[in-house]
Amino acid sequence: MSAFCRRDGVLHAESVALSELAADFGTPCWVYSRQALERALDEFQQELRGLDALVCYAVKANSNLAVLDLLARRGAGFDIVSGGELKRVLAAGADPGRIVFSGVGKTAAEMELALTTGILCFNVESAAELERLNDVAAKLGTRAPISLRVNPDVDAGTHPYISTGLKENKFGVAYDEARALYRQAAALGNVEITGIDCHIGSQLLDPAPFAEALDKLLLLVDQLATDGIVLHHIDLGGGLGIRYRDDDASTTVAAYLQPLLARLAGRPLRILLEPGRRLVGNAGVLLTRVEYLKPGEVKNFAIVDAAMNDLARPALYGSWHEIVPVVTRPGATRRWEIVGPVCESGDFLGHDRALALAGGDLLAILSAGAYGMVMSSNYNTRPRAAEVLVDGAQAHLVRRRETVDELLALEQRLPC
Ligand SMILES: *Cc1c(COP(=O)(O)O)cnc(C)c1O
Repeated sequence: MSAFCRRDGVLHAESVALSELAADFGTPCWVYSRQALERALDEFQQELRGLDALVCYAVKANSNLAVLDLLARRGAGFDIVSGGELKRVLAAGADPGRIVFSGVGKTAAEMELALTTGILCFNVESAAELERLNDVAAKLGTRAPISLRVNPDVDAGTHPYISTGLKENKFGVAYDEARALYRQAAALGNVEITGIDCHIGSQLLDPAPFAEALDKLLLLVDQLATDGIVLHHIDLGGGLGIRYRDDDASTTVAAYLQPLLARLAGRPLRILLEPGRRLVGNAGVLLTRVEYLKPGEVKNFAIVDAAMNDLARPALYGSWHEIVPVVTRPGATRRWEIVGPVCESGDFLGHDRALALAGGDLLAILSAGAYGMVMSSNYNTRPRAAEVLVDGAQAHLVRRRETVDELLALEQRLPC
């Protein structure tokens, strides 16, 4: 049973009515389900039972401390992409030995912080980064554990902005150059080669490109072994998609992992995974209230109190999120453009949705747990929305709503 379901016509998060949360915490408001988060992680961990494997949650998908805390308590590691995310996961109680550090632009200061923290691995994305990391580790008198993020040049068939495994992308080391760069790394005094990694894209619903990427990586693993470079782990990145609409092809975690685990069987390689969206995407909704209805000749607009500054995905990628009433209302439906108050025509949350609506109604924007709050901004001087985590019949405010005064506090007028 989904953690978000309807009882007596009212949409609930676990045992709490979303209408109650709107009354208590205001709108717009992000609502997460503890049960949904834990179940999503459990799905991975069940498939990996008995194997030497670590699920490193990709923090950038949803970095709320309470979310990180829940996942850490259940044994997850973390994939971070900045020094800020490192501080976040440590604040949430993460074990440094379960943190991997990805990203094409790691600064020397971020490397230093991660080295002194003692993270599991740096996923190195270029020759220049490798050199810098070696220098920073030398300065600290230590050795940096590394894997190279190899770009396997497979077409993941996803949105161009979230496809990362093609030659033309900025990510990773080109497949044909990886072997030589490993040899170079082996000659450096302050890095220690521990693994290999890739991440080919996001919101992938077809398991085939993952297997294709793994085959290419394993070929490289074997070539490196003949060079005397023995790897201890293989990190397959994240990217497994979720269902945003009913007709999305859905891939189970098992269907995604089984072909990969079959290829890895018998190899003495620890398996790392970096799922982000799959762990949190369906565990959150964005709760919003209709401010005004503006029916028109060509289009009907429902202006709601959430906007592109809250949930950027529709404006940024043309993403589709299901939008449902919190309390079902009898009466005829009309087709509505669900839009926010931001002064941009791109400020929409959904196009052409058949809904029976009245001013003041509450709507839930579903599957908003990943790349939602983390991508929000203060555009139009809109304070960021509150985040609430529901656990059974209890609702915990896990980030309070920002105030306008807090936004202004960082700024100053000119002295004269
Ligand atoms: C974004 C990212 C992930 C997570 O991607 P999802 O599609 O959310 O699973 C994992 N690894 C790296 C390196 C990333 O940049």
